[in-house]
Amino acid sequence: MSVEISRRTALVGMAAAALDPMALAKSLAPKPVGWAILGLGSYATNQIMPAFAHSENSKLVALISGHTEKLSRFGQQYAIPTSHRYTYDSMDEIASNPDIEVVYVITPPATHPEFAIRAAGLGKHVCSEKPMAPTPQDCQRMIDACKKAGKLLQIGYRCHYESHNLRAIKACRSGELGKIRELRSDHGFNMPNGTWRTQKALAGGGSMMDIGIYSLNALRYLSGEEPIEVSATITNPPNDARFVDVEDTVDFKLTFPSGLVGHGTSGYSWSPGKNRYEIRGSKSTLIAEPATGYDGDHLTLDGVELPVTPNNQWAAQLDQMSRCVRQGGKVLTPGEEGLRDIRIIQAIYESAKTGHPIKLV
Ligand code: NDP
Repeated sequence: MSVEISRRTALVGMAAAALDPMALAKSLAPKPVGWAILGLGSYATNQIMPAFAHSENSKLVALISGHTEKLSRFGQQYAIPTSHRYTYDSMDEIASNPDIEVVYVITPPATHPEFAIRAAGLGKHVCSEKPMAPTPQDCQRMIDACKKAGKLLQIGYRCHYESHNLRAIKACRSGELGKIRELRSDHGFNMPNGTWRTQKALAGGGSMMDIGIYSLNALRYLSGEEPIEVSATITNPPNDARFVDVEDTVDFKLTFPSGLVGHGTSGYSWSPGKNRYEIRGSKSTLIAEPATGYDGDHLTLDGVELPVTPNNQWAAQLDQMSRCVRQGGKVLTPGEEGLRDIRIIQAIYESAKTGHPIKLV
């Protein structure tokens, strides 16, 4: 934009503002960051796309899908023009669409690296869903590609943006609980057969990759430490077709540098499911249950409910990335955060396989 045009635009905005203060706020607000959603599955269409309506500085501007029927259906629903609807075959054309600033990859984990690297190569910032990728090497390739392209990389760890989880972290750091003595986190549910989640080639692993990562990530953000040793066991029910290729129940123990120990579990055959963590401090105990839900998270401190105002965690996640795109600054959950979890999950698998604790360096 030329200096002359931007000066004129500002003057028009100011003239409007003299009549209407809301117009001033609007004319001075930065343009929202344009997002393309890649992969129109359950999480994208039920959680992420509706969240744009609650965001402050993020706008859904494009769709990328393997199915033209979905492009047409969701394109109409979200008023995305046909010029901004792409298939995986035609997605290279996004390079010449300046409206698209971020591509959000919401596909099975083994496909994250290629889509993310491709989007960065097309000159776009990238957000990738969790788990970041099947292996640490894949994660590193994604980080390197975004760095090389000079683009940001965010991993969709929504709980880092959610008010109950932020309140729990504050309780851990502020001394409110006293010295933290014990941490445990349990996440699991009953997974139906017949989806990519029970195919290792697409999922990268079983319950640990998909839902156990919430237990692991919570133990890390609650403790504020990185584990130095991991030990784990895996149990698969016999004669259950779901667990031929991927694991069911994982019990793991993380040892942190301070000597604190975190216990975590993960499962795909749990009915009822579990979604909770518990932090025992020298003064008080905090329990979150549900801890990492889509809504309805609940905290109790020594059995008494802690009042927390719920927020839209997805909008908060989108907006934090968008702020970094517009104003600079660091993404709160960058590729390095995703890589840390995948390294630890690999060590969990290694420990379960060998029967020995694994040191993390
Ligand atoms: P779905 O199976 O519902 O959707 C995945 C979509 O990915 C498909 O609809 C398809 O979109 C696209 N896709 C591209 N390549 C493939 C492929 N080879 N096989 C299958 N689908 C493919 O999965 P979810 O939406 O539940 O999960 C998607 C991602 O989001 C995963 O990484 C998952 O871990 C993560 N997730 C994160 C959550 C969170 O709370 N942060 C919650 C749930 C999921 P299309 O038809 O448009 O091409």
